[in-house]
Amino acid sequence: MPDIPKTAKAVVFDECNGPIRVDNEHKVVQPSELKAGEVLVKLEYTGVCHTDLHAWKGDWPVPPKCPLVGGHEGAGRIVAMGDGTDTQLKIGSPVGLKWLADSCLNCEACLGGQEATCANAKLSGYTVDGSFQQYAVSYAKHVTPIPEGLAMEIAAPILCAGVTVWKAIKQSNTKPGDFVVISGAGGGLGHLAVQYATAIGLRVVGIDTGDDKRKLLASYGADDFIDFKQHTGKGKLIEEVKRVCGGEGPHAAIITSAGGAAYNEALEYLRPHGTLVAVGLPPNTTINADVFFTVFKALRIVGSYVGNRQDAIEALDFAARQKVKPMLEIQNLDKLPEVYERMEKGGIAGRIVLKC
Ligand SMILES: [Zn+2]
Ligand SMILES: [Zn+2]
Repeated sequence: MPDIPKTAKAVVFDECNGPIRVDNEHKVVQPSELKAGEVLVKLEYTGVCHTDLHAWKGDWPVPPKCPLVGGHEGAGRIVAMGDGTDTQLKIGSPVGLKWLADSCLNCEACLGGQEATCANAKLSGYTVDGSFQQYAVSYAKHVTPIPEGLAMEIAAPILCAGVTVWKAIKQSNTKPGDFVVISGAGGGLGHLAVQYATAIGLRVVGIDTGDDKRKLLASYGADDFIDFKQHTGKGKLIEEVKRVCGGEGPHAAIITSAGGAAYNEALEYLRPHGTLVAVGLPPNTTINADVFFTVFKALRIVGSYVGNRQDAIEALDFAARQKVKPMLEIQNLDKLPEVYERMEKGGIAGRIVLKC
């Protein structure tokens, strides 16, 4: 049994928008205090997701618990388990903490593999303490096994960003050879979506702006890049998307961008029977779907919210096989407040991962 310290580092806030403090003497839950089904994970790395910033700011209709240790892209190893925990995981097993920390596994949503919408779901870094700490309690049934050999800092951002976009692609109703447009393709979610989509043989058209993003997406094997700043006239972007997608538009559009316009544009450029997958969460945004054309073109509009346990296993497997590699900047856990400042300004390329 590894030595478990009584206290360790955690980043905590006591109220939404209040000071964020680095607590070097945060109490570590001791093995004797763990309940059946709980595991204690010694975290090595944690990604920082936009949701963490929203949690701290209290942006959502239901605020998080306070005080809170945020974070839901944690990667580390199990160092203790509650007595009577029924699991194949062992002390030392590498595991990930994702947004969905726990669910009942018995309701209609859970039995159907939709545990994210379980009414009794526990959410890492929102309703329970998350991964911005060195030792976190999580749940044996829901932690994701990390393939041996996959670096922890690469696994971390897959656990939310990777899972989210992989699930969105699975919901896009496409098959190899189909055209898929990824809007916001150079961003934290988008650059991963492009890699998953190319890995399964989709023809990927990325929408974003700037030559750096054009080059980045080409290096991932994207088939086309549309710089939205070069197609600004009325209807111009829609024309261009249709043109590069065989004249008829794409079979699916996955919207990861943080702006609202992309949703309504997609409804115009999708080909008949096309699917719009909503992933990005621009604030106060409405999708304006014209009923006539939604019916006439037989369009589908799908909301995609994280993924289930199997989606998480699959998403990590792509990374373990080096088909998907997040673009990373590694910082120390203490730097979280500065990371939030940069996020608010929108100046982050790829994903920030903190060393715990
Ligand atoms: Zn997230
Ligand atoms: Zn349930």
